[in-house]
Amino acid sequence: MKQSVKNTGLFPRNFFYRTSAMNMNWVLKKGSLLLWCLTIILGLFSIQFAHAQQIDILIKGGHVIDPKNEIDSRMDVAIADGKILRVAENIPDGEAGRVVDATGFYVTPGLIDMHTHLFYGTKEVGFRGFEITNSYGSVQPDAFSFRTGVTTMVDAGSSGWRDFHTFRKQTVENSRTRVLAFLSIAGHGMLGSVHAQYVQDMDPEATAFIISQNRDVLVGIKKHHYRGPDFRPVERAVEAGKLADVPVMVDFGGHDPPLSLEKLLMEKLRPGDILTHTHFGSSQRQGAIDENGSLRPFILEAQERGIIFDVGHGAGGFQWDQVIPGSQQGFWPNTISTDLYRLSMNAGMKDLSNVMSKFLTLGMSLQDVIERTTWKPAQVIKREELGHLSEGAEADVTVFKLREGEFGFLDARGNRVNGNRKLEAELTIRAGRVVWDLNGISAPAWEGDF
Ligand SMILES: [Zn+2]
Repeated sequence: MKQSVKNTGLFPRNFFYRTSAMNMNWVLKKGSLLLWCLTIILGLFSIQFAHAQQIDILIKGGHVIDPKNEIDSRMDVAIADGKILRVAENIPDGEAGRVVDATGFYVTPGLIDMHTHLFYGTKEVGFRGFEITNSYGSVQPDAFSFRTGVTTMVDAGSSGWRDFHTFRKQTVENSRTRVLAFLSIAGHGMLGSVHAQYVQDMDPEATAFIISQNRDVLVGIKKHHYRGPDFRPVERAVEAGKLADVPVMVDFGGHDPPLSLEKLLMEKLRPGDILTHTHFGSSQRQGAIDENGSLRPFILEAQERGIIFDVGHGAGGFQWDQVIPGSQQGFWPNTISTDLYRLSMNAGMKDLSNVMSKFLTLGMSLQDVIERTTWKPAQVIKREELGHLSEGAEADVTVFKLREGEFGFLDARGNRVNGNRKLEAELTIRAGRVVWDLNGISAPAWEGDF
């Protein structure tokens, strides 16, 4: 049925006729206006979209090593809003606020140093102590982290359940470096050797409770410097580790006569627990290498069962007569760390990139060295959001130069090994912010006279 258009009075009688018969010029005019409006809307949308994708820093042309994501090639790294935006080949630099030419450099996740001492303060220890807890034997994190490519430092038991709150307020909350910590099983942390013997103050429940209240910072438990003829501090640390579901890190040093390293690694510790000062051996501490230069038979078995061997170089925990025979017999540490404190940094240890260079010198690949200072420690401390350059991860990035030349590397006994490659931190970025730039590669060049 044909419907007629009823005149409602709103339009002139011949409106619909006139509309259908309007001239082409009018249609074209209105059509192009519509097109124009659409273009503006689409334009605004794409500006909005582009704004959301704005790159703050673009690191171009470097060789990226990101073991978690199995990247080992030339890539660009785009950073936006403090996070990794993208890692890909040839990211256009048009939208980048700052472009860093990383040609000839290595680009890695920010390093994690799993053994440091950061509870600095001015408290005098009232007896011959170690001056590590709230005292001058520890170091300020920011003073030593970024310049060596480190963005996360893990304090190894400088505080215990009695004084963690001071460490947290004084150091952790005042550092740009991400500071995490193992809590000492000793109530007062590393206040001195007397406290390290005071087993009654090693309280698994109090230790686990403090960890449960501070999981954003605390990642494990540390046992250290006990000289007694038994495993009680290790047992208490493991008990606390079970209660809090965190790993235990053991400094096994100084028992006379020495305790059984095999018993520690094969019976007392759980898979995922850590032996630090791996390359240390003395009359009071069995080394991984015996008196004849042979790797003890249970070491590889312990590593197989999940025990983590951490370097913890320190001022006394790294000997070429342990490291070299170990590497020659197929034994390499799982994580590379410094045991940074006042004495180690001014002796053979120096800093993390120096310790990494020692392993390069012994034949460990650069990829393995980077993995042992990024993704591996992140896994050991159960912080898998760290140690890689995945999209969306906090942008902690290090740019290294691998220098070639003649270098000397000291162990903790003062013996030198010569090498010809050395890592040097060129640029360090923490949460998307440049915190170390050795030669100003991220800065605009001065164009005036000088
Ligand atoms: Zn230490």
